[in-house]
Amino acid sequence: EFGEISIKDIDQVAKTSFPLCMRHLFEKVKEDHHLKHGGRMQLGLFLKGVGLKLDDALAFWKAEFAPKVSAERFDKEYAYNIRHNYGREGKRTDYTPYSCQKIISVTLGIGDHHGCPYRHFSEENLRAALVRMGVSSRAVEDVMDKVHNRHYQLACTLTFEAVHGSSYDAGINHPNQYFIDSQRVLQ
Ligand code: SF4
Repeated sequence: EFGEISIKDIDQVAKTSFPLCMRHLFEKVKEDHHLKHGGRMQLGLFLKGVGLKLDDALAFWKAEFAPKVSAERFDKEYAYNIRHNYGREGKRTDYTPYSCQKIISVTLGIGDHHGCPYRHFSEENLRAALVRMGVSSRAVEDVMDKVHNRHYQLACTLTFEAVHGSSYDAGINHPNQYFIDSQRVLQ
């Protein structure tokens, strides 16, 4: 059901087709050259779902974590976990990307950037993020209305409609669904 995506296309599709939760993690890892465990899991499994192969995933995280994390330290401390997520270590479970429900319900600690921005961002940060995504001020108010009523997935659905200029009746339940349907609309 999932296509394939190569490492050179990631920046482009992150801009056009990642839901806000993943855009935020993607921007943070570029900015900080690090993500805490919860963020690595949420973004890593999403990227796997998007179709990033294991070797590209290892290359992606290694490049983003450099120079803060040396290549040797990366191989020792982080590579295992990435292979594990791809079912190549431990019990060899092929882990699936997180659903919205799971992401929305997490409790965040200091320095965590995962979770759902509609649920976990301050109003000010969320408004700014929506504007950066290109959501019009009118649509931002509609999104915030859903957020105030704790309808986070509907807020995300309205965002999808605003940035793609198309209606989206299904409603967002999964970040990878957002991605797939975004690619479909843009093609
Ligand atoms: Fe991500 Fe789902 Fe929240 Fe949208 S509603 S930002 S896809 S967790």
